[in-house]
Amino acid sequence: MVLTTFTVLEDIAENVAGDHLRVESLTKVGAEIHGYEPTPRDVAKASEADLILDNGLNLEAWFAQFVESADVPHVVVSEGVDAIDIAADAYAGKPNPHAWMSALNARIYVDNMVDAFSELAPAHAQEFAANGETYKRKLQDVHREMVAKLESLPDNERALVSCEGAFSYLARDTGMTEKYIWPVNAEQQATPQQITSAIQFVETNDVPAVFCESTVSSEPMQQVVDATGATFGGTLYVDSLSEADGPVPTYLDLLRHDADTIVEALTGGGS
Ligand SMILES: [Zn+2]
Repeated sequence: MVLTTFTVLEDIAENVAGDHLRVESLTKVGAEIHGYEPTPRDVAKASEADLILDNGLNLEAWFAQFVESADVPHVVVSEGVDAIDIAADAYAGKPNPHAWMSALNARIYVDNMVDAFSELAPAHAQEFAANGETYKRKLQDVHREMVAKLESLPDNERALVSCEGAFSYLARDTGMTEKYIWPVNAEQQATPQQITSAIQFVETNDVPAVFCESTVSSEPMQQVVDATGATFGGTLYVDSLSEADGPVPTYLDLLRHDADTIVEALTGGGS
């Protein structure tokens, strides 16, 4: 069994593995992944895994100690990604962990999984490689769709204001300017300075709509909405997929949903 740290990696890994490996996510849909605290049951589950996949780039703060206790091989799927450093606050200079929010980066994740699975189950190496190529073509298509949609926004509307700083990679891919209340979910509480800074950004740039991620409270962003008159543009998915009957049961759905939500809110709710 291949164990991933969160649901986004589980979905990508399933696409690469096909029917040849069983893939499970340690954390459930909707879990807050950054500050997750593994349970004894998680440790037991990990010890049964043949391989653990983690994102790396300091996403899973709890991971190093966890994987040590499980004594199972692990592969960091973001290895080789051109990381963007966090610009602000206590995390300045550390890599932004949300590299999968670029479909182009996800192709590197796929390559790393193909290599890891081929080592684990060499008899199926060809299938893993073929599945990886098929999935990378889908990623390329989604990337093209997203860029086309987001680049269609007028320059003054290409600002992406969210709760967590999870969109640095997407902003780089699509030429958007990003602003967030806090850089990485950790303390889980916005400071008054962070909220004031977001309010100023929205006012200065006359941003029509703002967003928040599904795994955190949108309450701080509501304060920005109340203070500025911007619209709350909707929930964006980053750190977790939704349930199967929700809006983003797969990673490709997640990327499309976020691009659609952003474009719709920034063009529809214009002030
Ligand atoms: Zn996050």
